[in-house]
Amino acid sequence: MRDKNNVTQAGSPGHAALSLRLLDAGGADCDKTRMQNPRTIDPDYLTSRLKALLDIPSPTGFTDEAVRYTARELERLGLEVKLTRRGAIRALRPGAAQRPARGIVSHLDTLGAQVKALKENGRLELVSIGHWSARFAEGARASIFSSRGTYRGTILPLKASGHTFNEEVDTQPVGWPHVELRVDALTHQRDDLLQLGIDVGDIVAIDPQPEFLDNGFIVSRHLDDKAGVAVMLAALEAMQRAKIETPVDTYWLFTIGEEVGVGASAVLVPEIASLVAIDNGTTATGQNSQEFGVTLAMADQTGPFDYHLSKKLHELCGEHAIQVQKDVFRHYRSDAASAVEAGHDVRTALLTFGVDGSHGYERIHLQALISLARLTIHYVASEVQIERDAEEVSGLRGFTHQKVHEAKQDLKADEQARS
Ligand SMILES: [Zn+2]
Repeated sequence: MRDKNNVTQAGSPGHAALSLRLLDAGGADCDKTRMQNPRTIDPDYLTSRLKALLDIPSPTGFTDEAVRYTARELERLGLEVKLTRRGAIRALRPGAAQRPARGIVSHLDTLGAQVKALKENGRLELVSIGHWSARFAEGARASIFSSRGTYRGTILPLKASGHTFNEEVDTQPVGWPHVELRVDALTHQRDDLLQLGIDVGDIVAIDPQPEFLDNGFIVSRHLDDKAGVAVMLAALEAMQRAKIETPVDTYWLFTIGEEVGVGASAVLVPEIASLVAIDNGTTATGQNSQEFGVTLAMADQTGPFDYHLSKKLHELCGEHAIQVQKDVFRHYRSDAASAVEAGHDVRTALLTFGVDGSHGYERIHLQALISLARLTIHYVASEVQIERDAEEVSGLRGFTHQKVHEAKQDLKADEQARS
């Protein structure tokens, strides 16, 4: 039952708490025998949806089919689905109260490329969609979506023949002006491309080349952020199966322009008071992200995430024995930043799965995805801590505190511990 006027009473722990205990009972994350318990994250569901999503090309600007797939799956799971004009998805899962609602967001769009020019040699000059290095495009198989339909091809460095260019292959510069797309069709000159219906501005999708290994590693392009989408679907599937109740409405959001910075700028509703983005972490040198467990981002290039929301998510990991590590990203923004920059006064946090080689040859581990799905459920089922968030503006009553008192130290104990 919804109770608009009484968020404190909403979501009393009874049924929800029992379901969540069952969700956690079952041992190691990747143990498939755990599926004998129906109230757990289903790794087979998660990976099958991830495979299906990876199979649908969706560079930013060409996301309609991925939107259709995801919207249908949400409807199949029993959610009410709405789309914006361009296809961002907002699916509602009702809770006991409407406010302060929670949003979970991931993005359906991926990196890609676009035809910059039809070259006299019958090949295509490209620009990138999103920020990624042409170094990782060299050798990629790709689809070109022309007005006549899809063609296939390979992105090659300009000097691609070892027999012709010898050592110059290794010394040529890296960058988008130094690669070209060879279309697998008879195209010896510019006019041949026009005959095929290929034109400037056509969208190019890069093949993901996914491999799902038995040891749990998943190697593929575009795990950013199709793995995040699969995490959200897997969390929802488990919640629907276990009939988990939540104290407030939850909105499951899927955006279509994150890689170009637009993200969650136009998909929120005023009821949403907090927004948790699920996207990739970065397990590069100098980072604290890991390929296992949840990596909680504390800041990205747009600044710190919400103190209280991040703290709550960290504490939930502790309460439910979910591995967690914190990280800070320097060259990174997500759906959370675009929502705030668009003027939404929402608390934001960023939960990530550590990706090795992000925006390049990406690799993740299934265990991290399951950890994220579990945390997502615990978060949306948790009690509301900041009740005044139900209103967009209110007085000081119920406003939050941040810890500013001096930390207690026991120097004697410290000395003893050192000796
Ligand atoms: Zn992303």
